[in-house]
Amino acid sequence: MEKILVSACLIEEPVRYDGQLKPCSSTILKKWQREGLILAFCPEVAGGLPVPRPPSEIIAGIDKKDKKNTRLIINSNGQDVTLFFNEGAKKSLEIVLIHDIKIAILKDGSPSCGSQYIYDGTFNGVRIPGRGLTAELLENNGINVFNENELKSAEILKYSLDAKSK
Ligand code: SF4
Repeated sequence: MEKILVSACLIEEPVRYDGQLKPCSSTILKKWQREGLILAFCPEVAGGLPVPRPPSEIIAGIDKKDKKNTRLIINSNGQDVTLFFNEGAKKSLEIVLIHDIKIAILKDGSPSCGSQYIYDGTFNGVRIPGRGLTAELLENNGINVFNENELKSAEILKYSLDAKSK
């Protein structure tokens, strides 16, 4: 059966910037884990960032006029870490394509994994609607991205994809 990509910090891996994890207690995730369907992945670690690391936020977006990607990501020390985030997003797409993954469950709010909201680039804890680099790249390549609060919808889609592939 096809695997599901899941942000590593949502299950067992303490890979967040602060060295912590954000365990998700959903029974759906636990069932998928028991069935061996989960492929845990952290784009930021895959992109070359250490654990722990300073928090990072996206401070520039897509240029709406020419749709050029002008995204710039800085960490709380003011260092440009965009390259690491781009690399992590690229590696996420590679792994998804290798395993023919159709569904990703990504931790919302992250400059990599966020799909509904991110932080506004001021490091003041202000949320704004937006997507992280990995979520955006996966969605642009046809992957169905859900956050940790949308597992029921992800499960319904999974049933329907499984039924079609029989
Ligand atoms: S990049 Fe994604 S998987 Fe890695 S710690 Fe951040 S939210 Fe979790």
